[in-house]
Amino acid sequence: HGSNGSSDDLTFPLEIPPAKIRFTKLFIGGEFVDSVSGKTFETIDPRTGETIARVSEGDKEDIDLAVGAARRAFDHGPWPRLPGAARAKIMHKFADLIDQHIEELATLDTLNAGKLFSWGKAVDIPSVANTLRYFAGAADKIHGQVLKMSRELHAYTLLEPIGVVGLIIPWNFPSTMFFVKVSPALAAGCTMVVKPAEQTPLSALFYAHLAKEGIPDGVINVVSGYGPTAGAALTSHMNVDKVSFTGSTEVGRKVMQAAAASNLKTVSLELGGKSPLLIFDDADIDQAADLALLGVMHNKGEVCVAGSRVLVQEAIYDEFVKTLVEKAKEWVVGDPFHPNSRVGPQVDKKQYEKVMSYIEHGKREGATLLTGGKPAAKKGYYKTGFYIQPTVFTDVKDMMISRDEIFGPVMALMKFKTIEEGIKYANNTKYGLASGIVTKSLDIANTVSRSIKAGVVWINCYHGFDIDCPFGGYKMSGFGKDFGMEALHKYLQTKAVVTPIYNSPW
Ligand code: NAD
Repeated sequence: HGSNGSSDDLTFPLEIPPAKIRFTKLFIGGEFVDSVSGKTFETIDPRTGETIARVSEGDKEDIDLAVGAARRAFDHGPWPRLPGAARAKIMHKFADLIDQHIEELATLDTLNAGKLFSWGKAVDIPSVANTLRYFAGAADKIHGQVLKMSRELHAYTLLEPIGVVGLIIPWNFPSTMFFVKVSPALAAGCTMVVKPAEQTPLSALFYAHLAKEGIPDGVINVVSGYGPTAGAALTSHMNVDKVSFTGSTEVGRKVMQAAAASNLKTVSLELGGKSPLLIFDDADIDQAADLALLGVMHNKGEVCVAGSRVLVQEAIYDEFVKTLVEKAKEWVVGDPFHPNSRVGPQVDKKQYEKVMSYIEHGKREGATLLTGGKPAAKKGYYKTGFYIQPTVFTDVKDMMISRDEIFGPVMALMKFKTIEEGIKYANNTKYGLASGIVTKSLDIANTVSRSIKAGVVWINCYHGFDIDCPFGGYKMSGFGKDFGMEALHKYLQTKAVVTPIYNSPW
């Protein structure tokens, strides 16, 4: 296979997906149902742009029904009342069912989002099962504290599930995002309505099918549909107690406004980023170039933590650039089902056009194109697919491509002189989701990691995720952590219970 990231060739054969699409309806109260309006919307395969299925289109009425089912399951059903260990047992079973369907689930995310099948099979799907297991392990360890009061009172706290939660998720990691929210909410004893992204409803509906084996009806409801209709109805619903949202900063703002304007439900937001990777003079250039490419090309750049701004100290800049351009060729564009591909198609036409328009802006604003910059050549089956060459710009100043989140395989390279200047550039963004440092110096690593305003600092690595490691943004990248025990506490609230110790007059 001769094609590579910077050539015009896209020669991989279209691999035939091994699975049929089985679930396309809304999942409400334990049943797959049509939408009230009967409407459906197209879901497409980004490899070809072709429609692969029609999925029920939920709207306000369907959200009402789903919230009603979740409310009944919360107020009267067993889930919040079960001992934690019993919830854990059911969650473990759910995780085992996922393990039994890894291929089919990875296929759905590849078909729907253009994600690498090999990665889905080896990493994404097995790790969602483990996310369930991690939070299952916490379900029987949720307890409050006995308080030492200053008066003759005895008091303790109860940690109670927050209630009915709305979980709104994006399309770039359809499975990971589903379970990063569903798992802690389940462990806490909440009931929920999930609104998957309109681009990627298929795996979410499959998870709903698996949930039927054990999770009581109404605990997990899945309503596919569009953001301004189904999504907005969830955020402004008077009977929803919390919304946990992952998506763009722009929509995050709307979510908070809707919560404020309705019942003041609590909100947590995981939003966009423009994350810096700082490479210092003492770095191993090969390793640094590999990390820089991994940071922004992984999942074709459709990653909220993408290291899209690469800041390189001046003494190694020229050599780094040479190495980077050479290594960019290893990021082979092709069919995401093919084992040799490293960069699949962008998720849909809109994203493809957005990324291409940023590339044009970069050229117009005077940045130098080092490699890529064009659609990957489209032939045969791929004529209408959404493939873009891995792209690297240098001589990037304060430009749109250094300010805005592009969400595609586009790197903005910049040079800095001193450590202070590097930190200043790194923090010169409204976002604060992630960051990376490449250096051999402990002093530099320690100083810089304390100076960067971002939710995570990866030192000599990138995309270093783990279920146990809290993840979430600073600044306009949002607030509230996914992963780690902090995520569980988003779905709990504290009640204080107070009583006199003696027959005192209190
Ligand atoms: P988006 O904000 O347009 O959509 C995200 C979700 O919100 C979708 O389910 C969508 O249907 C829904 N939505 C849209 N409008 C809504 C509204 N008015 N009310 C309620 N819900 C609404 O984002 P996108 O384009 O699908 O995803 C890309 C963005 O998501 C990027 O900016 C990326 O950084 C961000 N993202 C962040 C993280 C993170 O963890 N911080 C993870 C993945 C993606």
